[in-house]
Amino acid sequence: MTDRKDELAGNLAKVEERIAAACAAAGRPREDVTLIVVTKTYPAEDVRILAELGVRHVAENRDQDAAPKAAACADLPLTWHFVGQLQTNKVRSVVGYAHHVQSIDRSKLVTVLSREAVRAGREVGCLIQVALDAGESGRGERGGVAPGGIEELADLVARSPGLRLDGLMTVAPLTGEYAGRQRAAFERLMDLSTDLRRAHPAANMVSAGMSADLEQAVAAGATHVRVGTAVLGVRPRLG
Ligand SMILES: *Cc1c(COP(=O)(O)O)cnc(C)c1O
Repeated sequence: MTDRKDELAGNLAKVEERIAAACAAAGRPREDVTLIVVTKTYPAEDVRILAELGVRHVAENRDQDAAPKAAACADLPLTWHFVGQLQTNKVRSVVGYAHHVQSIDRSKLVTVLSREAVRAGREVGCLIQVALDAGESGRGERGGVAPGGIEELADLVARSPGLRLDGLMTVAPLTGEYAGRQRAAFERLMDLSTDLRRAHPAANMVSAGMSADLEQAVAAGATHVRVGTAVLGVRPRLG
């Protein structure tokens, strides 16, 4: 346990250094960027250690794993982000622990989330997941809605009880015009965020960047980076 704590502390320190350096290079204050540690596939004990080490934001992408983990960590001062593709039959469970759902990608999901948030007496912060590899109207390979679909979904979230429109999220595309061009992808997301904030000024979260590309995300203006591997280690392949 102590070994694991030392390991996580060392990894966290390195990630913190990278974020601080990226902020400095971009002329941004360090407080502009929030680190979200993606704890998927790792046990609740790791989440507990991370909380002891000062982590306050964690993310998960599968309700089956996240729900028991969040329950085991309910005493910790953590904000939980859901970042995976979300089926409507999992929404009731997710609303039980998630403060933010970053993977809003269709109106049906918004409708069900709203209903369940109201039912649970909770307010859920919503980020529209943008697929930069999709056609203007299509869906991305890794989830998300095409840029042309943001406005309609955002307006729907904004007028749905129990939901709060927080901003945009993306995963750097592996295919299409942005493949291998993370900086350009994240700059495009920032432009879309600027557009969104004209109608929804409070929706100022921009969630972008993972272990491999957090520097590009910070340079482009991301407010939240989602880091898994660089903190917890390489994940065992999911079966
Ligand atoms: C797993 C995951 C991350 C973290 O990825 P790493 O490369 O391990 O840092 C970030 N965002 C989403 C949506 C993820 O599913």
